[in-house]
Amino acid sequence: MLLQSGVDPVHSRKILVTGGAGYIGSHTVRLLLKQGHDVVVVDNLSKGYRHNVPEGRLRELDLTDTAALASLMGEHGTEAVIHFAAFIAVGESMREPERYFANNVSGSLSLLTAMLQAGVKHIVFSSTAAVYGNPASSPIAETFPIQPVNPYGESKVMVETMLRWFDQIHGVTSVCLRYFNASGADPDGGLGEEHEPETHLIPLLLRAVMTGKPVTVFGADYDTPDGTCIRDYIHVNDLAQAHILAVEHLSGGGASDQFNVGTGTGHTVMEMIHAVETVTGKKVPYTVGPRREGDPPGLVAASDKLRSRLGWSPEFADLRTIVQHAWNFAIARKA
Ligand code: UDP
Repeated sequence: MLLQSGVDPVHSRKILVTGGAGYIGSHTVRLLLKQGHDVVVVDNLSKGYRHNVPEGRLRELDLTDTAALASLMGEHGTEAVIHFAAFIAVGESMREPERYFANNVSGSLSLLTAMLQAGVKHIVFSSTAAVYGNPASSPIAETFPIQPVNPYGESKVMVETMLRWFDQIHGVTSVCLRYFNASGADPDGGLGEEHEPETHLIPLLLRAVMTGKPVTVFGADYDTPDGTCIRDYIHVNDLAQAHILAVEHLSGGGASDQFNVGTGTGHTVMEMIHAVETVTGKKVPYTVGPRREGDPPGLVAASDKLRSRLGWSPEFADLRTIVQHAWNFAIARKA
């Protein structure tokens, strides 16, 4: 029997998503619902937005409330957790590391404790390419040394480490997805990137086009073809799909693992500016400033492992499509 959505109910799973009111979380929730899963979102709305979560799905809870999380999992019958909720600003983590260890590490420990209490055995964790620090070469494979260079990256490594022990000791299996540069927006509209303050390149370039206020290019003297930094921009829906494949892997008895999530292709900041100009038909006002502290020259994922083991492949790898979707969202937000 098929549901109206065309999803086989046998594969419909009960999934609890933390941070589902945020950028990547909300896109993943939408995709999970589209694919027929039963989703409950936990978010304290410290960074996320209520309007990102479909009616009736949101539980306004803090990750530190272990007892409430465990009882929610029990009521919902949660089979797997996807854990996004975290602080993400590298610069802020260099000024206030305590907030990152409290929210990202203690929050995750509370969540894992609740999972033990409720008997939930699978978790997909939002990790980051920042676990690799400043790698000696690119593309970056999962086997590269783990050597974060800021408390944000360190907080993610600490959670990855806890997950390893929770598997060995408690049999909780996990997939850690190490994201490269999440970007774009759902082509269906209504969801997109809205950080406060915004630090990410694409929304800042689009904002510069809209306001006429120049954006600063952080360094044009790197050893790259045009002197600006190279990053691997991955469409947020493709990132979301990786989480769903990871849940399926774990629910089907797959072992704990770590995967990079990127397209495998890098673009410089100047290429991004040109892509924004092509999509918007307007010049991006910019100035070249000094390098940003801690920015590695190139971060590109080797994503073969995700492709071969989980059968993932990006649907929106084309840069212009990514920028177009982000632009559609920016225009709709302004309207
Ligand atoms: N960048 C820039 N100006 C900005 C913001 C970002 O030149 O105002 C550059 C940054 O140095 C990096 C790339 O754009 O090379 C992507 O930065 P972002 O903060 O979006 O993501 P990150 O790679 O730091 O996770």
